[in-house]
Parts: sequence; structure tokens; C-alpha cells
Amino acid sequence: MPRNHPSHPSRLRMEFMDQDCPCTLPACPFFIAEQRLARLDPRAAVRELAKESPTSPFTLKVAMAALVDAQYRRAGAGTAFMGQLSHRSTGDRPHWDYPLRGIISIFTAIYRDSDAPRQGEDADVLKDTVSKYPVFVEAITRDFHFLTPADKMGDYRRCTVGGALLFFIDDPATKLKMYEEQSLRLIVHCWLETSPDYPLRHYATNVLVEVIVKKALNGSQPPPDYLERVFKLVKIPHLMSRLNFLFKSRKLADEMVWHEVQVVVYLTWEWQPFSPHVVEANVPKNVLAAIRRTLKNNARPFDEVENLFGQVEILAQNLFDQSPNTMHVLTGLVKNTYLVEVAAEGLKRANRSTEPVGNLLDRPGYFYRFFSHIINPKYVSTPCSL
Ligand SMILES: [Zn+2]
Repeated sequence: MPRNHPSHPSRLRMEFMDQDCPCTLPACPFFIAEQRLARLDPRAAVRELAKESPTSPFTLKVAMAALVDAQYRRAGAGTAFMGQLSHRSTGDRPHWDYPLRGIISIFTAIYRDSDAPRQGEDADVLKDTVSKYPVFVEAITRDFHFLTPADKMGDYRRCTVGGALLFFIDDPATKLKMYEEQSLRLIVHCWLETSPDYPLRHYATNVLVEVIVKKALNGSQPPPDYLERVFKLVKIPHLMSRLNFLFKSRKLADEMVWHEVQVVVYLTWEWQPFSPHVVEANVPKNVLAAIRRTLKNNARPFDEVENLFGQVEILAQNLFDQSPNTMHVLTGLVKNTYLVEVAAEGLKRANRSTEPVGNLLDRPGYFYRFFSHIINPKYVSTPCSL
């Protein structure tokens, strides 16, 4: 993943550090913790952190300091934060909130400070932190109810977990562990239940894309039944209703549409039972409407628009291919969605292209294949029942 890519972990910035108290009142616990940290050198601070409660303001202060100063992580702050994750949540907020921020700080700073973090000065810190992945997953899933509220706090937690997962994904062996039930449940849940317009939603979506769509990494492959595992964890009607809610939302950012569409396109291609459910639940109607909205805004970079056209054509193709009644699906798409409008736009682009038509015939996004389906008897295999 290139460093300037929007989902690159180094782009997780101070966004997570928004619950500190900025006041300097002598009695404020956050101010007291700040003073205490200022009196300690990083080694001493990390020794105290190891004995500190995960919910104490001091833990938050070390988590914040670790984002800017490499000495904390090199003194073992990551191990101390991971140790705190093994505690239990007692009140109405998760005990893992501050330690998780500490771990994200450490990852963020390592990726920010080096182009080759696995070979650099922090190689051991990185290796050690990543190796504690099971501790992280166990801590988060033990109190799953903290991830269920449908409000901003729930969105924040789901996306923080997504952001942390993105760092662990870089290690092939750890990525393989993400195909185990506990991790898959976490990944799918955080994506599915986060509000369309939550500004950090891209973390939750990008983890899903990395695990489901871009599944190969450095030669490692997911278990062959990984999609069956995913679909065991989610009820199809709920999935369809969340997808419709997502694509219907006018607040879904343009830049997110392409990431979300990618998931639907991939699943219709890769998982046979998916397409009929998608058609039946009218998901294509909302997907096409979201894409049309994005195209009308006309502000996306050229290659992204190119990609979107390609995705639409592949989606239509998948829906035909997976259906026992091609003509029925085609008629439904023509009648109920903006497919024809988008396809006509693709054809116009083909017409304007300086490339020979022969080069474009099979390339998704120019819709030659889509229009040829209408006249090609091979695809009109069963009579239309509409
Ligand atoms: Zn205060």
C-alpha cells in the first residue's frame, strides 16, 4: 500500500486523541497526569504505566506522548499497553480505550518515521506489538457490547478498532489470523454498523476490503471457505438492509462510494449465493443511485471515475451471470435503476476515446459488452417473465 494511499495506516493522525481535557485547573485529573508525566523520563514513565490502571488519565497522557516521542515505544510502552488490555472493563466504558490509543500511537509513529518499518530501528518494537494480536482481539471481543451502540460513540469505537486492525494486516501471518471467527465477526460488525457519514468510516471499510477483497498478501492466501465463514456471521436480510441504508444515504462521502461498491462487486463475483439476494433486495437500485450522485458531483479524479464505470459494468455482468433468468435481471435493472444512464455515459466515453474500438470492446466501463447482451442470444437464455 503506497504511503499516500488514503487507507495507509500512517494517515491515522491525531484524530483519535479527542477526549483529553485541555484545562489547567490544579484539581483536574488530566492536568495532574500531565504534570506527573512531565516529571518522569520516558523509561520511568513506562515502568509506571505498566502498573497503572488502563482507564487512568496518566495512561492517556502516555498514549499521546508515544505519538510524538520515539523513546516511549523504545522503552517498552507497547508491552505495557498490551498488558493493560488484559484487564477487565468494569464501568460503562471499555477499559481498552486508552491502551488502544497508545498502541495506535506507536504504530502510527513507526510508520510515519520510517519507509521500511520492519527493517528499521523499530523492527523489534513492531514485531513485538504485532505478535500480541491475539491479546488485542480477545480484549475487544470480550466486551462486544461496547461496539454495538448506534450512536457517535459506537461509531468512534468501531472505527478505532478498524484503524488498529489496519496496522496488524501488514503482517501476513497476523492477517491469516483475521480469518478466524472472532476476528471476522469484529471486522464485519465494525463495517456494517458504522454510520455512512461517520468521518472515520474509511478505517472500518478499508479493513473489510483488505481482508475480503485484497485477500492475498506476500504469498499467503485465506482459507478457501473464508466467505462461508463471513456469511455464517451475518444474517442476509440484515446485511441487505444495511447495504441499502448505506447507499441510500446522501451523506455517504463520494470518496467512500467507490470503496463500498468494490465490496458489493467483489461479493457478487466471488460468492455465488450473494447475487440473487442483492437483486431481490433492490440493492442495485441504491448502488446505481449512489454512483450517479458521485458522477454528477464531477469532482473525483479521472482514474477513480474510470474505475467506477468499470465497477458498474462488472456488477451488472455478475448479476446476469449468477442469475438463472438473465433477461429478468436485465429488465429489472433497466426499469428500476440508473444503469442505462450510467451505461450511456460509458458508451459516450468510449466514443470520445482515441483508442481503437477493438481495445475497448472487452474493457469494463465502456459498456460494449453490456449493450451486446441485449442482442446476443447467448445471454437471453430464458424468456422474460415480466
Ligand atoms: Zn480539566
